Amino acid sequence: MPSDLVVRALRKEYPHPSGTLVVLDGLSLAMSRGEALAVMGPSGSGKSTLLYILGSLESPTAGAVEICGQDPFALGPAGLARFRNRSVGFVFQDHHLLPQCTSLENVLVPTLARGGASPEDAVRAKDLLGRVGLAERMDRLPSELSGGERQRVAIARALINSPPVVLADEPTGNLDRRSARRVGSLLLELQRERDILLIAVTHSVDLAARFPERAELVDGRLERGA
Ligand code: ADP
Repeated sequence: MPSDLVVRALRKEYPHPSGTLVVLDGLSLAMSRGEALAVMGPSGSGKSTLLYILGSLESPTAGAVEICGQDPFALGPAGLARFRNRSVGFVFQDHHLLPQCTSLENVLVPTLARGGASPEDAVRAKDLLGRVGLAERMDRLPSELSGGERQRVAIARALINSPPVVLADEPTGNLDRRSARRVGSLLLELQRERDILLIAVTHSVDLAARFPERAELVDGRLERGA
């Protein structure tokens, strides 16, 4: 069976005053739905760069990325926006919730790109908020929630369009230990329940240890089984 995510010979360079900075150098990866990978590595090793390229927020210098059989970088701007909206969910270290919107409205934001939230979207959003333990907090603003609760809203938002792929950048990085454990558990439970292909970048040894697979970004490539 073909992999749902295929990365071949990925290279990313940035211009640098003292020459070219090579961040990713021949990186390859193949994963299928239902798999979850924690990516570790020191600061500056290129973890965020990798995640942003996988999420097609940034383009590679060379190499190929295929998600569910599609090369996102071959799409035009409108096609790319549509592809990203439907195929990839993002969870960032900082929740990036809209401060003036309630939990429910924040979860519905990714549905707006399809022309507005339908009644079915609202039902799904409420179900998801219930699933992440926030049934009683749907009408709260982000400022009225704890850090862990805000991150749980962000997880529900990442899943509202049922994307096959979810990318998480330090999803527990700003949380206290207890909230971090709960957010990590939820992420992994939802990944299994929904047959999601999850890649999380993390510095947390605790979180990485709970993933079925781990890899370390070293010299621009992924070393599996770290
Ligand atoms: P990590 O997430 O592992 O901390 P990053 O992917 O953020 O690493 O960064 C990898 C390297 O690329 C760092 O040396 C960083 O300074 C550099 N870098 C990241 N983004 C840019 C950019 N837009 N322009 C130039 N250099 C960048």
